[in-house]
Amino acid sequence: MTDSRKMVALFPGAFDPVTHGHLDIIQRASKLYDRLIVAVGHNPEKLDLFTATERVEMIERHVSRLPNVEVRSYDGLTVEFARKAVASVILRGIRDNVDLHAELEIANTNLLISDIETVFLMASDQYALTSSRLIKQIVSIGGYDRDRLARLVPLDVAEQLEARLRERESPGTQEHS
Ligand code: ADP
Repeated sequence: MTDSRKMVALFPGAFDPVTHGHLDIIQRASKLYDRLIVAVGHNPEKLDLFTATERVEMIERHVSRLPNVEVRSYDGLTVEFARKAVASVILRGIRDNVDLHAELEIANTNLLISDIETVFLMASDQYALTSSRLIKQIVSIGGYDRDRLARLVPLDVAEQLEARLRERESPGTQEHS
């Protein structure tokens, strides 16, 4: 049996900022699908630290070696973006039962309103406790070991995060280039 249809997966999220946990899911999913679209959106329950363009650029820097992965930003309903992008599945990462509980509700609703399936990939062991929220907390408190932090988040992303948090603490004092 031959099937010429390409399997496109959509991996939506806030990625504010991208962590090694996200990048691990992207790298693993890129081997499972013909095309993977990382969809940078806005979670209305969270305040974004980086603009969508900044978040897209941060991810792009780290997926450039994966030829079947593209990064795009979107507004509105994820299922609508998935339909326009001709994605067959929505992909989400699951770290624990809290993620699973929240994701089941969203996945079920998305299935009801649009017929799109959601596929879950479990977080790799070493990233099961990594979250953008925690990384932001660690960087804002400061005094961490950079080499250790680099195990959880790419160093260039951590540096961008440090700069953004500094700007937030003392607005108006940042240099314009
Ligand atoms: P959202 O607000 O949409 O959950 P996030 O950027 O927090 O956006 O997460 C995007 C996706 O990546 C979600 O499916 C989330 O469960 C998953 N994810 C986040 N951190 C990790 C991690 N450390 N390992 C695996 N998946 C993760």
